[in-house]
Amino acid sequence: MQDKMLSHGLWEETAPPSPKLIPIEGTQSADVAVIGGGYTGLSAALHLAEAGTDTILLEAKKIGFGGAGRNVGLVNAGLWLMPDDVVRIVGPAYGERLIEVLGASPDLVFGLIEKHGIQCEAMRKGTLHCAHSPGGFRALQQRQAQWKSRGAPVTLLSRKDAAPKIGSNCFHGALLDQRAGTIQPLAYAYGLAKVAELAGARLYTDSPVTDLKRESNHWRLTTPSGHVRAKAVILATLGYPQSAFKDREKELIPFNFFQFATSPLPENVRKTILPGGQGAWDTNMILSSFRLDQTGRLIVGSVGQVENMGYSLHKNWARRTIRKLFPQVGPISLEHAWNGRIAMTVDHIPRFHMLEEDLVSVSSYNGRGIGPGTVFGKLLAELVQGASPDTIPLPVAKPKGILTRSLRGLFYETGARMYHLIQRRI
Ligand SMILES: Cc1cc2nc3c(=O)[nH]c(=O)nc-3n(C[C@H](O)[C@H](O)[C@H](O)COP(=O)(O)OP(=O)(O)OC[C@H]3O[C@@H](n4cnc5c(N)ncnc54)[C@H](O)[C@@H]3O)c2cc1C
Repeated sequence: MQDKMLSHGLWEETAPPSPKLIPIEGTQSADVAVIGGGYTGLSAALHLAEAGTDTILLEAKKIGFGGAGRNVGLVNAGLWLMPDDVVRIVGPAYGERLIEVLGASPDLVFGLIEKHGIQCEAMRKGTLHCAHSPGGFRALQQRQAQWKSRGAPVTLLSRKDAAPKIGSNCFHGALLDQRAGTIQPLAYAYGLAKVAELAGARLYTDSPVTDLKRESNHWRLTTPSGHVRAKAVILATLGYPQSAFKDREKELIPFNFFQFATSPLPENVRKTILPGGQGAWDTNMILSSFRLDQTGRLIVGSVGQVENMGYSLHKNWARRTIRKLFPQVGPISLEHAWNGRIAMTVDHIPRFHMLEEDLVSVSSYNGRGIGPGTVFGKLLAELVQGASPDTIPLPVAKPKGILTRSLRGLFYETGARMYHLIQRRI
């Protein structure tokens, strides 16, 4: 479905058939136009249609083309930042609400999956944040204390208790978050698209918005094959802005994350790795993720791109990491590789823009977008239906480019390559 071999990897192979959608043709009208077919746009379209609002969604490529079809599939609660850091950055009023709303975001995701019977390998058994060092364990202690003080069901596991849950002796402990879980991310996006359509939203793919203009009392959206007139527009293009919104890349630091998947592991090995069904990632600055899929493939990921020169370097790192963390795997056959671009901001806080009258967006989830995208899609749907902007637990921000974005992107990519190269030699 996609334009690059290494873009959606395993998820594209194991997702159910994609929804059958076509490009928009001619001129159509709607109350609300949603731009982007990832979690934010699809959740917005679903909630709008369920509320009886006439809705059109335009996706530049295919459903799940952006982060939604490439991610790790960890449905985590809250942001990547620790709760107290969120409050420090956005202030107590927004901060505590943001933590509460996003802390509950897995409820919305798993609730939608259950309500609509979305087939996406959903497992709500929690996630494990694993301490890669004694310092990492101390950070988990802080994280646990901050969540506990807010009543969240998180449990700190000692090294001894974490080892059998992870299936590896390499970690110094772990934080089990019972609110969280895992999904097949592209399948979840397809599922949302199907239920949004069933609810009455009109969805079009291969329909990049190339121009967006205010005309008297409505917006006019242009694509290569058609137009939409809409009273309000939700912009949900996030880390993959194209055509008319290409410029929004300037607000993001380019930050890539790759994954490799093994062939299905034999049953006796499979049941020794993450036997409780959690997904996991570690506390390292160049973080690694690891999880199993439904067929027992082990999927490991980390920072970097697996295109061009990065491919063999990161592939070697993946092999070494599996061998080190999970020696029980034995001979390793890596069958899939893919990567994606994470929408990262300097302070790791998402952005809420009210760009013009009836043109709104929330973006930049900093690698935590399954829950947040689903939640903010719903909140944006309510906003364009008349809810107060105060219902969005973020301050309104002005779009602002990051001057050093390319330099920062280079820093992360080079840093990750160096780190994976050095690790290769350990
Ligand atoms: C490798 C990777 C790993 C990640 N791991 C996790 C994880 O484990 N857990 C988690 O919660 N989050 C994770 N994330 C983040 C998560 O995937 C994103 O935050 C999420 O996909 C955001 O959804 P979205 O709908 O806002 O944006 P996207 O999913 O990026 O969708 C935006 C869509 O807009 C479309 N678009 C762009 N321009 C136009 C245009 N002009 N006209 C029409 N359509 C347009 C794009 O084609 C794209 O389909 C990860 C991300 C990556 C890349």
